[in-house]
Amino acid sequence: MFQKPKHKRKSSNYMPDIVIKQVYERDGGICQYCGKQGANIHHILFGGTGRKRIHTVENLITLCGECHRGVHSNRGMREFTYEWSRQKYGDVIDKLLAEKWSNEK
Ligand SMILES: [Zn+2]
Ligand SMILES: [Zn+2]
Repeated sequence: MFQKPKHKRKSSNYMPDIVIKQVYERDGGICQYCGKQGANIHHILFGGTGRKRIHTVENLITLCGECHRGVHSNRGMREFTYEWSRQKYGDVIDKLLAEKWSNEK
């Protein structure tokens, strides 16, 4: 059953434990950009679609603090995360991207 988070305003930050676990098991807690130990889980599509953040393994990547800062400011690194997801999950991320743009005016 899907559980709704209690606080609406905080819902965008709410990440289900099971998803965090899956991401950790997949990435081994290693930054997928530089290979260092990484403690950050980044939303590849960080704006979400519309206002909603997408907490799925296809949209989440482990990064270290440094690369996490980079990915939010550097277009090339952002492309890297899209490509990384494509290699693992095909065009899931492109579908999310398409949905994002269709929700934005
Ligand atoms: Zn890194
Ligand atoms: Zn992020």
